[in-house]
Amino acid sequence: MCTENNQNKRAAVAGAFREELGHAMEPGAKVMSADKELRFCLELQRDRLARRNIRYKEELDPGKKPMRSASNNVRSWQDGHYETSWSVGYIKHKRTAERDGMKTFKRTEPSSICETVIDVRDGEDVSSDTYCCPNCGAVSTIKELQEGCSQCGTSFNMTELYPKVGNYFFVPDPAVSTDPIWKTAIRYGLLALPVTIPLFSPMIFFNSSAGGSLLNMKFTVPSVAMVIRYIIGMIIMSPLTGYFVWMLSLFFLSFAQLGKESPAALSVGGSRKRFAAKMSTISPVYTFETFSSKITTLFRTLVFSDNRESLPFNAVKDLGSDFDNVVDCTFRGWMSCKKIKTDGNKVYVTGNVYVDAVRDMGSKLKVKSEVYQITAGKRTDVPVLTNFSIAKIQCPSCGASFNSFKSKNCPYCGTECPPAEDDWVLYEVKNVGRQHLIKSIIIAVVVFGILIGSILTTYGSAINGLK
Ligand SMILES: [Zn+2]
Ligand SMILES: [Zn+2]
Repeated sequence: MCTENNQNKRAAVAGAFREELGHAMEPGAKVMSADKELRFCLELQRDRLARRNIRYKEELDPGKKPMRSASNNVRSWQDGHYETSWSVGYIKHKRTAERDGMKTFKRTEPSSICETVIDVRDGEDVSSDTYCCPNCGAVSTIKELQEGCSQCGTSFNMTELYPKVGNYFFVPDPAVSTDPIWKTAIRYGLLALPVTIPLFSPMIFFNSSAGGSLLNMKFTVPSVAMVIRYIIGMIIMSPLTGYFVWMLSLFFLSFAQLGKESPAALSVGGSRKRFAAKMSTISPVYTFETFSSKITTLFRTLVFSDNRESLPFNAVKDLGSDFDNVVDCTFRGWMSCKKIKTDGNKVYVTGNVYVDAVRDMGSKLKVKSEVYQITAGKRTDVPVLTNFSIAKIQCPSCGASFNSFKSKNCPYCGTECPPAEDDWVLYEVKNVGRQHLIKSIIIAVVVFGILIGSILTTYGSAINGLK
């Protein structure tokens, strides 16, 4: 009811998450600003890195004097139960990986980090209420019990203590750069050399011997000395071209964000509408944002898990070993909704998730953009409970307490416990990256063809005009 207070709480959670994410791969770290799914996903990633003997460090550096302060609530969506909003922070995103003291990966990108903050619309805040552990009698606050009783280890099945961060992604953003402009210009200029050198090369192939008029241009083969002089000249001039390239990239970036205030340029408007229109009649408690946040995190959990059969939300058959060498998998902010189908008391949604996967190739780590088609399903006849509840999780066979969200099998006796009925389950995961690559190559060839065609026509008519 007190919206301003809720806003502040969401902003605090988003800020805490940016801080905690930078330490998430350290031993024993718990990212409490994340919801339990995302928290578990980050834990699995840390275990994967440890098993592969990789020291992976992710820094989210806001800079000494931040150029822009974080903005909260840049966009928000409401459904029957949740209020979901985006927070954006501006950081220098630095990732390094080491194995046996050898650097295997290094990447620094000025970026915006976009976080999906999930909150309930009208829930009571019970986080500081006290609760007596039914197993050992120790008294703790509800907040302290999220990861189980600290005295006896009993696990609880409890309603999420919102607001929490459910998903996040990075958008490369050259405007975030904390470097002085001359450094940025030199870097961009040198990076652009493979393009600028061929681009300006007509300067040495054509020279006007008489009068300097355009019509007197003659094609000549340049001497080696000329070519060397040209290349050195281009390198010396590179900060200047770099400055232009940088200004251009800023221009296009602000153009892309115009009217959308945020990396919302990356949101998929059509999918969102389709999902809302169809889902509102089936299961109105989900907006596309809460759905895509959930599915992305479940997918990443599947990627990092080494024991996929035991994950309660996993019903995917024969996944193979494709994910076994993935050590980082960041959501790219894109998820599309392709199909929604109902069958009896279940609804199935199929969509594509776009990620950047870092794979361990032995001596080096490699980043690749990948696309996965995911089909997820959910019961439609189980109501979503809005009131807070907490209950001890107990194995029906041996009575031991364990976190049934992380594994459906009791770690003591192996008995399988039925998963929660109201949660999403993943039924199919397919790598469709190659299909997408072929599609974009075809589009590129067509665009290139049209471009060349129009240049030739213009050129042809210009020459005809000269005659
Ligand atoms: Zn206890
Ligand atoms: Zn048991």
